[in-house]
Amino acid sequence: MSETIDYAAYALRALAGEAPTRAGALALLAAPDGDLRAMLLAAFTVREHHFGRRVKLCMLRNARSGHCSEDCHYCSQSALSAAEVDTYRMLPEKTLVEGARAAVARGARRYCMVTSGRGPSARDITRVRTVVRAIKREFPALEICVSLGILDEEQARELKAAGVGWVNHNLNTSERFHAAICTTHTYADRVRTVLAVKRAGLAACCGGIIGMGESDDDIVDLAFALRELAVDALPVNFLHPIDGTPLEGSASVTPVKGLKALCLFRFTNPASEIRAAGGRERNLGAWQALALYPANSLFIEGYLTTDGLAAEPTRHMVEALGFSVEDDEDATLSACGEA
Ligand code: SF4
Repeated sequence: MSETIDYAAYALRALAGEAPTRAGALALLAAPDGDLRAMLLAAFTVREHHFGRRVKLCMLRNARSGHCSEDCHYCSQSALSAAEVDTYRMLPEKTLVEGARAAVARGARRYCMVTSGRGPSARDITRVRTVVRAIKREFPALEICVSLGILDEEQARELKAAGVGWVNHNLNTSERFHAAICTTHTYADRVRTVLAVKRAGLAACCGGIIGMGESDDDIVDLAFALRELAVDALPVNFLHPIDGTPLEGSASVTPVKGLKALCLFRFTNPASEIRAAGGRERNLGAWQALALYPANSLFIEGYLTTDGLAAEPTRHMVEALGFSVEDDEDATLSACGEA
């Protein structure tokens, strides 16, 4: 272990609500690989304080796929992508409600509906509201997240009134690096959406992607930006370089680097729900279970256009490491401030 890095001090700062210094944040990402165990244990102290050993499972549904006007280089559905992905218009209400039933049946506490595109039309908002009302009638306790692109405050309020609790809109990377991965909208557009979501009283789910060619400085900038925005949930994706996208052939994130990044986000955003998200299986491989030390949430059953670990082996992995899948009862206790 490094003789110069006191990982317990990072945990103490985080528990006191203080962020690491910028130099301290960079030092985490550059730490010797042999320090990983100590770093994970320090991050776990913070995670355990806020979330115990609970793991929230989330399940995604790609509610509209492909034909996007935007050029996000990592995305298989972008205007630049030649990837072979399913393309379809907004799925019918029945299919999306069935998706919610499947999520509940597999133990997910949150169901996330995602649409391709720059942002929703008025018709899209109306359709999503109808679907969300139907899901909430059947599953009042199921947390509903939507990821619809750029939103204004009025649209966010309409979604909230229908029963949406969370809106996902990632910053993806640092302000400095953003133009290298997307030119059709700006980092500022993304920040504006997150702020609109928060003003509307919705929980903001906002994170990023590691492994797009960014520097450690960019990862640290992202972590501090997400702290500044006080995001409620923070999905950390690891690039899955899909053939046909501008980032095809990119090198994988090493498991150690991915885990260090998760620890960094736990220290900068100690009380945020941190989710080991897309690309977890591909990049972390057999090390993915260790993500539970800094992170308190996982996706099950795959992502928008890529596969992931199914619910049952995910639950097995969670329980084998001494964690437990969060259920309705846990959520009730959390809401009462008792857990
Ligand atoms: S990430 Fe979203 S906005 Fe960007 S290209 Fe993909 S579907 Fe479009």
